[in-house]
Amino acid sequence: MEVPGWTHVSQGKVRDLYVNDEDDSLLLVVASDRISAYDYVLDTPIPDKGKILTQLSAWWFEQLGVENHVVSLDVPEVVAGRAMICRRLSMYPVECVARGYLTGSGLKEYRESQSVCGVSLPAGLTEASVLPEPIFTPAAKAEVGEHDENVSFERVVEMVGPEVAESLRAATLEVYSKAAAIAAERGIILADTKFEFGHIDGRLILGDEVLTPDSSRFWPADQWVEGQVTPSFDKQYVRDWLVSDGAGWDRQSTPPALPAEVVEATRARYVEAFEKLTGRVFQA
Ligand code: ATP
Ligand code: MG
Repeated sequence: MEVPGWTHVSQGKVRDLYVNDEDDSLLLVVASDRISAYDYVLDTPIPDKGKILTQLSAWWFEQLGVENHVVSLDVPEVVAGRAMICRRLSMYPVECVARGYLTGSGLKEYRESQSVCGVSLPAGLTEASVLPEPIFTPAAKAEVGEHDENVSFERVVEMVGPEVAESLRAATLEVYSKAAAIAAERGIILADTKFEFGHIDGRLILGDEVLTPDSSRFWPADQWVEGQVTPSFDKQYVRDWLVSDGAGWDRQSTPPALPAEVVEATRARYVEAFEKLTGRVFQA
């Protein structure tokens, strides 16, 4: 897409980045309606997803009160509502995951080793167990086409050095705790989430999108039962559909197109997450 005054520099799975023609320290981050699952971009877009994600992320940046990359939401008309002007950061190649509950790949690792990313955990935990305290379970950002890989804290130290590794862990757990408290007030459990940090001249800054259904597992608190998979406001619904018998997908090739009812149900979950968390009505 052409955006006047900005030059397209890269396309991620979900977002496109543009650099300002006059000031190359400014980045326009444009969220598309693309949806990815199992590291594939699906052929079927989810209408309004880019706007929902951008507006939810912007709301969180405001609530959190930590230094972040947002400069302005006053963006060119062609990308209105779905883009943010941000400071361009040097990104750390670490997906900074915090987990307060055990599920997904965390639970899988726990069952094999009673630990997640090298963090030892008590025996007897199961699906959806609350952890004794939130843990930092980083992943190494994979090259295009590869899967992100869970890594130990020691591996992060090797990647970015001990001081930055410590800062990433501390900042991740701090932002997770703040966000989990805010979500809890709204009857939502923030089971886990992923942040990406970058820096300008060595100062750590929160970047990317934050606390959206793409980067987080949100559970309705009143439906959480230890030992059971919690129905969630996130794209777990799409992941579950893709691996269901009905989809008939082998998980090794391009995933099938989503049927209209799966698209609609997924969109409704993104809208519900936005509205429950922010207390605002989503307007496309
Ligand atoms: P990638 O394209 O890096 O493999 P992805 O598929 O997750 O990852 P998207 O999330 O669609 O990509 O695109 C967002 C990209 O922008 C990510 O690579 C992210 O690290 C990067 N990014 C986010 N905020 C900033 C920023 N302030 N400065 C520089 N890069 C940023
Ligand atoms: Mg991303």
